[in-house]
Amino acid sequence: MTLVLVSACLLGRTCRYDGGACYHEKVAALCRRPGVACLPICPEILGGLPTPRPAAEISGGHGGDVWSGRARVRTARGEDVTPAFISGARRTFNLARQAGVRAAILKERSPSCGKHYVYDGTFRGLLTPGPGVTAALLARQGLPLFNEEEVDALVRLLAERD
Ligand code: SF4
Repeated sequence: MTLVLVSACLLGRTCRYDGGACYHEKVAALCRRPGVACLPICPEILGGLPTPRPAAEISGGHGGDVWSGRARVRTARGEDVTPAFISGARRTFNLARQAGVRAAILKERSPSCGKHYVYDGTFRGLLTPGPGVTAALLARQGLPLFNEEEVDALVRLLAERD
């Protein structure tokens, strides 16, 4: 059995900042495949943030820059929520390690889960290259990451491992 960590909102959990979800059928179908089990996790909830909560973006860079102290996560009103994002990322990584997770499917563009892009901190809908805070930590620890549009690539990886 291969255990895959999944951004919980992709499996229909209503944990997004606006109280909604972003159910993705292809991700859900992967979790129904024989030999695959999915662990739904929302790093922001694990970090102690409520739902709904104010939208937040990374200001001054991407998730890797948050870990190196060059960027912060802030709401549109300027509240610094970086500690909750860091706590949620660490708890996500610890849970993944304890559970024996082998890969992760993460919601693109989220300040926590984004793999390739995050919003740029201006709250104008603009993207900047780079991972979210949790994705940066998981990548640094060597976990193979995929976004919701890269499920086929994960399927190929699982087939190679079989
Ligand atoms: S932190 Fe990740 S799992 Fe939670 S709502 Fe945002 S994208 Fe989904």
